[in-house]
Amino acid sequence: MIKLIRNKSKIAIRLLKKNAYLHKILKNNKLPRHKLKEIQLIKFRKVLIYAYENVEFYKHKYDEASYNPYTFRTERNVLDIPMLTKEEIRENFPNRIFAKGIDMKKCIIDHTSGSTSEPLKYLIDPHNKAIRDAIHEYVRRIAGWKKNNILLLLRTPQSKNIDEVNGTRRIFSISPHSDIATLLQLFNSLKPDFIFGEPSFLYKIAIELDGLNYAFKTPLKGILSTGEMLIPVMKDRIEKSFNAKIFDSYGCGETVDVACECKSHNGMHEIMEHAYIEILKDQKPAKEMESGNVLITDLDNYAMPFIRYNLNDVARRSFEYCSCGITSPLIKISDGRVQDFLVSKDNRMISPFTFTGFISPFYNEPLRSMIDQYQIVQDTKKDITLNIALQKKIDINTKNGLIEFTKHHLGNVKVTIKMFEKLPQKKYEKFRCVVSKAYKNLDSI
Ligand SMILES: [Zn+2]
Repeated sequence: MIKLIRNKSKIAIRLLKKNAYLHKILKNNKLPRHKLKEIQLIKFRKVLIYAYENVEFYKHKYDEASYNPYTFRTERNVLDIPMLTKEEIRENFPNRIFAKGIDMKKCIIDHTSGSTSEPLKYLIDPHNKAIRDAIHEYVRRIAGWKKNNILLLLRTPQSKNIDEVNGTRRIFSISPHSDIATLLQLFNSLKPDFIFGEPSFLYKIAIELDGLNYAFKTPLKGILSTGEMLIPVMKDRIEKSFNAKIFDSYGCGETVDVACECKSHNGMHEIMEHAYIEILKDQKPAKEMESGNVLITDLDNYAMPFIRYNLNDVARRSFEYCSCGITSPLIKISDGRVQDFLVSKDNRMISPFTFTGFISPFYNEPLRSMIDQYQIVQDTKKDITLNIALQKKIDINTKNGLIEFTKHHLGNVKVTIKMFEKLPQKKYEKFRCVVSKAYKNLDSI
């Protein structure tokens, strides 16, 4: 009973905090851009100094680089701060990258999906949970979602009290791996106004909807897409099959969304109060609409700060003002996370998680501790190449195990294993764990 009351009050506090933050960012999103920039820089300085004073990793890193965070005053100073890589997070997780005095009992450890690289763990404290809830709702609100609208999340259920933390009884979730009959049953009974999901799953469902000539009984008001880059061929097919416009958003699990699309569909508005986004070309800020590497500073995360975090995505930015009235610049992703499905010999689409997620032998010991990098390349439906960068020589049993695993999921295909010291990667091109040329030839599926 006491536990129940404690849980209820925890959710009530989270809801209050969420609503306060949401109210603030909704109220401020039409402020003059220079005002938002001022707010951003104040928040940036605060989290930067906090990280230096409270996180062992940042203290050590900045001291080593002879960087003094107290000198941070203007936007130009951002470039002086050493950037943060995913490798550094992995190497220093957990203790050296958490802030002092964190009450671990109140926190959860989450991880990225690992669809395009090895899963990365990160910490979420109660404050961050509330911010995340607020950002999620902000993204929906900008797309036109209202509290009485029904939202269906296509994702593996992670939270049983999803409605409670949103203060509504209108948000539902279902696994995107569900079969099409189950999904259609839910579409028919729930009559959702909005559907939320990752492009690759939405695309897979779109193909199935087309095959069945399915039409939504109540037209959708929109589709909320996140987590991966939305390539045009997918966007067109999803919008056509679902008969609704897509509202794209950009971010990552670690920092939650940092930009989202409005009803004018001109690109994704930066959420300036929450994140400082840099687009860099040769270590300098890229010019307007010039493609560059994306770095994100999370302005709200004090439990595990992300400062100048290199996402390895490539984006462009427009400084033009959008007709919707939101004043922040617009981001367009040029080369972000694209999740390639693999195609089995008998034409089934196989999720990349099969090879990158928790059931994959690449993810599990002992391979995980030996492997530096790996990549699955599907040249044709019948040809798979496993590119592996290993510290040690791979033994015959492991090799056979990988071939067997691949054939088990994709059919009797030809599997070639290629060993590297380091996997080749082109500059300004995103590294992908799963590359399927069979999948990219989308019309043939
Ligand atoms: Zn707009």
